[in-house]
Amino acid sequence: MTPAAFAYSRAATVDEALDLIAAGDPATRVLAGGQSLIPLMKLRLARPERLVDVGRIGELRGIRDLSGGGLAVGALTTWAALLEDPRVTRYGALADVLPVIGDVQVRNRGTIGGSLAHADPASDIAAPALALEMELVARSAARGERTIAAADFFAGAFATVLGPDEMLLEVRLLGAGRSAASAYVALPQPASGYPIAGVAVSLTGTPGGAATTGCVIGVTGVGEQQYRAYDVERSVVAGTPFADAAKTIAAGQRVASDIHADRDYRAAMAVVMARRAFDAAVARQG
Ligand SMILES: Cc1cc2nc3c(=O)[nH]c(=O)nc-3n(C[C@H](O)[C@H](O)[C@H](O)COP(=O)(O)OP(=O)(O)OC[C@H]3O[C@@H](n4cnc5c(N)ncnc54)[C@H](O)[C@@H]3O)c2cc1C
Repeated sequence: MTPAAFAYSRAATVDEALDLIAAGDPATRVLAGGQSLIPLMKLRLARPERLVDVGRIGELRGIRDLSGGGLAVGALTTWAALLEDPRVTRYGALADVLPVIGDVQVRNRGTIGGSLAHADPASDIAAPALALEMELVARSAARGERTIAAADFFAGAFATVLGPDEMLLEVRLLGAGRSAASAYVALPQPASGYPIAGVAVSLTGTPGGAATTGCVIGVTGVGEQQYRAYDVERSVVAGTPFADAAKTIAAGQRVASDIHADRDYRAAMAVVMARRAFDAAVARQG
């Protein structure tokens, strides 16, 4: 399949890109690594009239240290670049996600910002983004810059709170201590590798999981959109053993059902992945 005809512009700077999308026309789309958008265009599931290619904007690439021990990751940073950076291993759930995304080609081209902005309800990155409470920095020419908590970013399947005139610039991981023990575990769909159920758990508290003072859980692949399992989090902090609390991880969600996994199986796998992610996070405590 070939895409429908479209106009193409390449932006050299962030300001230039923001000017090109400033009209807020939803038929104009930003192109980053193209690993989600181009396949959709080839299938004609997306028909943008204009692409603004941001793929060569150097200022959007790379990882820098933040004061306080955190990291700022440029939106155009590829999975491969994240995999190669030893600082990323401080964030267990993020480090776990990187090798399981796609294949070498996808990891060399696909970007963290593109994946978050695409908001596939089964994207792997959504779970660690939620569990590590990543902060997403966005900018538009008209309204300037704002910081969005990952928990407020996703707005449905393939939808985010970003406006059509807005770009994601940076993803911030806060001080390492805040999420010193985290893990991501997923059951991949064998053909595509996307998670049937993927859960990231971030823990603070006594090593060994004996007394958990903080628990943040991000779930992907299960519901119609990625979500924080707030009820399970509260229950764990209140003292309920994780294995019991996790039984309700899919409760209240419109659990997805397809040829790969029906609702009951997917919900059951969410519980199993949550328990495994918790055990892996506990093993990293201390
Ligand atoms: C064969 C294959 C296997 C894959 N397997 C997996 C997998 O197992 N798990 C998984 O999670 N993902 C998987 N992916 C998806 C891949 O991780 C994402 O496609 C990729 O990371 C998206 O980033 P991109 O730079 O390619 O985005 P693009 O395709 O360029 O853009 C995606 C969307 O985000 C928007 N966008 C991009 N950058 C920005 C920005 N800075 N600001 C605002 N909007 C922006 C675009 O307008 C578009 O709507 C797979 C993809 C392929 C092709």
